[in-house]
Formats: sequence, structure tokens, C-alpha cells
Amino acid sequence: MRKAFDPDKITQFQSMRESLTLQSTIKESNRCLLCFDAPCSDGCPAGTDPGKFIRQIKFYNYKGAARTIRNNNILGSVCAFVCPVEKLCEKACSIKALEDPINISGLQRFAIEYGKRFQIEPLRKSKKDQGKIAVIGCGPAGMGCASELAKMDYDVTIFEREDKAGGVPKWNIPEFRLPVEAIAYDVENLLSMGVNIRLNTSVENNEAISMLFAEGYEAIFISTGLSVAFKIDLFDNYINAVDYIAFLRTVKFDREKIDLKNKNVAVIGGGSVAIDSAVSAKACGAGKVYLISLEHLDELPADRDEIELARKMNITFKAGCQINEVVANEKTITGLKGTEVEWIEPGNFSPTNARKIEGTSFGINIDFVVQAIGTKPGYEIVRFKKSLKTKGKGIVEVSDFFETNIEGVFAGGDVVNAGSTVVQAVGEGKKAALGIDIYLKNRGKKA
Ligand SMILES: Cc1cc2nc3c(=O)[nH]c(=O)nc-3n(C[C@H](O)[C@H](O)[C@H](O)COP(=O)(O)OP(=O)(O)OC[C@H]3O[C@@H](n4cnc5c(N)ncnc54)[C@H](O)[C@@H]3O)c2cc1C
Ligand code: SF4
Repeated sequence: MRKAFDPDKITQFQSMRESLTLQSTIKESNRCLLCFDAPCSDGCPAGTDPGKFIRQIKFYNYKGAARTIRNNNILGSVCAFVCPVEKLCEKACSIKALEDPINISGLQRFAIEYGKRFQIEPLRKSKKDQGKIAVIGCGPAGMGCASELAKMDYDVTIFEREDKAGGVPKWNIPEFRLPVEAIAYDVENLLSMGVNIRLNTSVENNEAISMLFAEGYEAIFISTGLSVAFKIDLFDNYINAVDYIAFLRTVKFDREKIDLKNKNVAVIGGGSVAIDSAVSAKACGAGKVYLISLEHLDELPADRDEIELARKMNITFKAGCQINEVVANEKTITGLKGTEVEWIEPGNFSPTNARKIEGTSFGINIDFVVQAIGTKPGYEIVRFKKSLKTKGKGIVEVSDFFETNIEGVFAGGDVVNAGSTVVQAVGEGKKAALGIDIYLKNRGKKA
């Protein structure tokens, strides 16, 4: 039932995900065993409840299915495109023991499309009579938290530093995996619940947090994500070496500003975002695109289907390799020199554990470099750090209900889990909303 990715769509900057037809939707939903305990629903970190919406589709209640998805997951439209279902809901599908799992994200896309086309009623507006809550960051975690609080009739304001809502799905996930309309629809639904979104408003430090409390906000949820990309010192000061956050954003919104036509591009990294960057470079007309990683092919953190896609796009893997030297013409990189590497201690994929293999030197002509080796929280969290408990690269520490060490301040999403998925961020936002509600009700009792 699932169609293979179509590389031709990528070069036209179109979503690779096919919509299910009505016939295939009926056929697919009819394969559902209607398990009493619906393990697929347990497999969804945001509580979207596929067990319920597949049942509704199976009994031709398409609008009901759209309502279920939207009520349970404010990012229901985005998730239907980007969830790594093979590790989540579809992994838990009971029919997998006999045949392919149900195409859950396909059914989710169908239901969302149906709900849009037949204009299901807007989500219920918050009565806003349960206290004021501030959410910092309007990505999946902030949206998940805000929607849940609005359902509980809180008066929620999201402070977002960008001029548009949506976080990484809005700015960085490439169009060939996520059409721009999907995030627009989810934001529209959030607004229909009466959530205020204050764009172009950055909340930067402890004083700003104190000011929010002084302005009458009773609890704060921090969902600022991971906005600073790690960089490699070797590429400092070269004008044609960028990080993947900037690169993917430019490809998505300012494509005309980068000319990669027939250019050679090196993407440094071996994870999903490195593949997104390499495929995006190809889509922009690049000639040779190299994916250079310390990890060997069988160790790459990217998923198998992503690696397959990169192969179909003729991306050259230089796995198990390290770049040691830049060849440059003043501030412009013109080539890279490297060697193959082996691990000193097997299974430890840290750069400090890589050892050059003598006699394996190589050199490649390169016109553009994209660094895709991970991200950390932005400087604002580091500034909060004085009083906010963090660990490792600045990840915020929280309790089971996502409360930080500061009373009334909660946090969730990438800034807490160090980078996971959209659906995980939504789930954490929802759980934090519950934590905020419990906190405020207990505080009321104590007062
Ligand atoms: C290239 C790429 C591809 C990905 N692909 C997938 C995928 O296919 N499937 C999947 O499930 N996940 C994917 N992910 C991961 C997923 O996007 C993240 O896990 C998810 O977006 C995290 O949500 P969040 O709300 O925690 O953070 P973010 O999405 O980062 O949102 C944080 C928001 O906070 C705002 N903000 C930051 N600082 C401030 C401040 N001081 N004041 C006000 N606002 C602020 C930011 O502007 C942003 O809008 C991908 C990530 C990347 C980078
Ligand atoms: S939101 Fe994602 S994980 Fe949850 S049911 Fe839908 S596709 Fe599966």
C-alpha cells in the first residue's frame, strides 16, 4: 500500500508523500484488526489515538476521524507527513505479525485532508477563565502545550521570536518531506482555540521570565528547541561553509539566493539532517554531492529509507572518513583533504575516538560545504542557566511533569530531550500542560 519515494518530486520541491485515494483508504482501513487494546495508540507519543481514528475511517466516519486527530494532536497534519512511524505507531501494529503494518500516517493524511475539504467545525475556543499562561517558543512542543491548556480554558499567550509560528517544521524540514500547507493548517487550528501568538517577540533571560510573572502569567512553559548548530573549527571564516539550519531554511524560503547549479557540495554528518541537506543540495541542481561522516555505512545514524533515498539521488557516501584540511582561495573553499578513519574503541562514535588510517588520504574539489553535525539550545537558555538547572550541552532538567527547578517554570520538547521528533515534542508539551494544571490547582489549595 505504501508507495516508494519518488526522487523526481524532490527536484520539483514537491512532497514525496502520495495521498491515499478513497479506494485505497477503504482497503487499508479494512485490514485493521480492531484490536481491543489498540497497541498502535500506545505507540503514539502524542496520544493521537490511531486505534480510534482508523476505526472511524473503517466505518466511513471520515469527519469523526479528522476530529479525533485534530483534538488529540494539534500537529496532526504535520505528523501525518513526518512521523517516523516504523519506530512508533506502525511498529506496534498487531497485523505486523502476519503482513505489512497498516499505513497509519497515510490514513491520517487522508482524514486530515477530508476534514479540510469538508470544513469540519473549528476547535472549541478557550473560555480563558482559568489563569494566564506564557509559552516561550511556537514550535511543536509549545503548540502541544498551548492547545492542551486552551482545552482546559486557560488564557495562553505564546511568545515567538520569528515572524511566523511553527518552529523547525516551518523553517527547516524540507518541502519534499513536508508541504508548507501542513504546518499552516495546524497553526490555523491553534489560533481557532483562542491562543494568542505574539510573533517577533524573543524572551531572552531571567529578567524577562520575572517580568512575565509580574505581568500576571501564573506559569511559564519553555519550548525554545535547539537553535544553535555545532560547527567545525576547520571551516571557520570561509564564506562558502554554512550550517544545516541556515542552509535548509535558505533552500526552503530563499532558494534564489544560493546557486548550487553543477557545483560540488560536501555535507559533513551522517544523520537524518545531513541526508536532508544532501538531498536538498541535489534538488537545487548541485553536481556531485558528498556525504562525509566519521561513521561507517552500517553505523550511520540516519534511517535506512533515508539512506536509500540519498542513494537514489546519486549522493556519494564517504563514510568512515574525516576531513583534515581545507584547500582555499582566500576565504573561499575550493577543496577538502581527508583520510579514512577507524574507531580506537569499537562502538564509541565520538570524534575524539576516531583514528586516521595511514595511506588512505583523498582529496576532492568542493564549491560549498554544509555542516550537519548536531545542535544545542540557543544562548537564551544558557543565559537562563544561572537559575535554570541544565545538563550537558545546555539541556534543561525537568521532573516527570516537565517542571524545572524554578517554581512555576516548565519546559519540554527538544530543549529537554536533546532533539527527538515532532510527535515527541507535542506529547511532552501536552504532558507539561497537565503538570501546569496540577501545579496551579495544588497552589490554589495551598493558598
Ligand atoms: C532538518 C530537520 C529535519 C527534521 N525532520 C524531522 C522529521 O522528519 N520528523 C520528525 O518527527 N522530526 C523531525 N525533526 C525534529 C523536529 O523538528 C523537532 O524534534 C521538533 O521541531 C522539536 O520541537 P520544539 O517545539 O521542541 O522545538 P522547535 O521546533 O525548535 O521550536 C522552537 C521554537 O522556539 C522559538 N524560540 C527559540 N528561542 C526563543 C526565544 N528566546 N524566545 C521566543 N521564541 C524562541 C523558535 O523560533 C521556534 O519557533 C527534524 C529536525 C530538523 C532540524
Ligand atoms: S501522530 Fe505520528 S506516531 Fe502518532 S499515530 Fe499519527 S503518525 Fe503515528
